[in-house]
Amino acid sequence: MKTNIDCIFCKIIAGEIPCYKIYEDEKIISFLDIHPYVLGHLLIIPKEHSKWLWDISPKDYCNLMEKTKNLAEILKKIFKTEWIELVVAGIGVQHTHIHLLPRQFNDGLGELPIKPLVPKPSNEELKKMANKIKNSL
Ligand SMILES: [Zn+2]
Repeated sequence: MKTNIDCIFCKIIAGEIPCYKIYEDEKIISFLDIHPYVLGHLLIIPKEHSKWLWDISPKDYCNLMEKTKNLAEILKKIFKTEWIELVVAGIGVQHTHIHLLPRQFNDGLGELPIKPLVPKPSNEELKKMANKIKNSL
């Protein structure tokens, strides 16, 4: 599997950096963003290093999107919302990743949240959130 020694996500995948893991299989890992823009902000990542979503094979893309949909359905239930935002940006960490953000129509963040939550949720809060989502899988 292709990895990049300078890539923080590859280090998380290799277990060299801890994360609040939600889901993992042979090809995909999902964990909480540690600088969440909303509570429950998830990242979904192909394990093989690629810079852009468009670099992965159609088969891997479909697999990634299927898992993303599964996780979005779980977030819908947990956060009691129909609005789960999907964002693919690309210049923060240059390893293909999908953001899922559970939104509320009254959260005041507009169409697209533009900065991390202040104050940042504590490690304890992140751990609790990860467990809550994991327990719903
Ligand atoms: Zn990487």
